[in-house]
Amino acid sequence: MDFTLTEEQRAIEDGIGQIMSDFGDEYWLEKDKTGGFPEEYYQAMASGGWLGVSFPEAYGGADLGIASAAVMMRAIASSSGAMQAASAIHMNVFGPKAVAVFGTDEQKQRWLPPIISGEQKSAFGVTEPNAGLDTGSITTRAERTNDGYVVNGRKVWTSTAQVADKILLLARTTPKEECERGIDGLSLFYTDLDRSACDVREIDKMGRKSVDSNEVFIDNLKVPAKDLIGEEGKGFRYILYSMNPERILIGAEAVGIGFEAVRRASEYAKERVVFGRPIGQNQGIQHPLAESWAQLEAAWMMCMKAAALYDAGESCGAEANAAKYLGSEAGFTACERAVLAHGGMGYAKEFHVERLMREVMINRIAPVSQQMVLNFIAERVLGLPKSY
Ligand SMILES: Cc1cc2nc3c(=O)[nH]c(=O)nc-3n(C[C@H](O)[C@H](O)[C@H](O)COP(=O)(O)OP(=O)(O)OC[C@H]3O[C@@H](n4cnc5c(N)ncnc54)[C@H](O)[C@@H]3O)c2cc1C
Repeated sequence: MDFTLTEEQRAIEDGIGQIMSDFGDEYWLEKDKTGGFPEEYYQAMASGGWLGVSFPEAYGGADLGIASAAVMMRAIASSSGAMQAASAIHMNVFGPKAVAVFGTDEQKQRWLPPIISGEQKSAFGVTEPNAGLDTGSITTRAERTNDGYVVNGRKVWTSTAQVADKILLLARTTPKEECERGIDGLSLFYTDLDRSACDVREIDKMGRKSVDSNEVFIDNLKVPAKDLIGEEGKGFRYILYSMNPERILIGAEAVGIGFEAVRRASEYAKERVVFGRPIGQNQGIQHPLAESWAQLEAAWMMCMKAAALYDAGESCGAEANAAKYLGSEAGFTACERAVLAHGGMGYAKEFHVERLMREVMINRIAPVSQQMVLNFIAERVLGLPKSY
């Protein structure tokens, strides 16, 4: 068991730190107010070669594994960029994992290099308004044609669909009634987000303004057969493959945001003098921040344990879920305490902690809720009966 970062991981932290220093508080605050994809930042990450961190070297990636990706995403989120910075590239880091594992050589050659170079962006279309967390109940339908499929349906919360060129799309190819389980009969496509067939409408939301979230209305989207990943009907199995890395990265990002909030609150508490002494001299200010530090460290260890298992090819479902759960809770609690430690100024945008708190809320909700994480652990680890 080794609790230190490798030399490579330290180099990742340094490299990311250098890029993030060009995108400071004012940049992200402006993005939070006015929106618009953070293209300059995205291109800087592409130029630095960071968008291929977990993809095979043969296609231009660095093949570093999820532990290193977690170090990278924590470093990104712990800058002022929080989830705006993390989500802008998150899909590049974990999303096309299904492509990298289940795609053919021809598909990987066609799809991965443009993602890694920053030439193309991709969105992830799984969630639907009438299915929610019950993915087996999605109704977006892909019907076979002579040369491929035609897709009709509706997605919701599809991030980056305003700017994406491609979409990783889950759709039903066999009616649910004809399947043994709801999650059977779903197929995964990686295809052009053709705007003549997809009406993309942005959702006005609480935070992370520059990384858009959308409703996508799909009307006769033509998908060539060569854009089907793996076998028809096995799409849910393929996205499961990217779910554990995604949970680990979401946990790591929340930990990064939490540490940044604690750092800001500690700095403020050293400077702000009330009743003739710095507020940080009061244990009522110190203890919540110190406790948050301990909670964040513990959550980070779970992220790294889950990542180490994943990278070793071992099963890591429970640990990846726990990493997402603990990271998100610790991150949110740290941000809330940082706001309170700032007093009234915690509510002012110029001190940034309220923005961190709004953004880290996402990690508790998506890609899976905290309740569903606990359902998973209760059922799969503790052997309790399924509750739903
Ligand atoms: C900012 C943001 C970005 C997102 N980006 C994407 C994206 O790019 N692509 C994509 O496909 N999706 C995306 N999502 C969707 C996200 O994954 C879903 O919102 C999330 O999975 C929850 O689904 P839902 O909103 O339908 O909640 P629902 O399924 O409606 O659940 C609502 C609440 O009920 C609880 N609940 C439901 N059933 C149970 C049960 N059996 N036991 C206990 N509690 C239960 C849930 O835990 C939750 O608290 C994003 C969401 C957000 C907020």
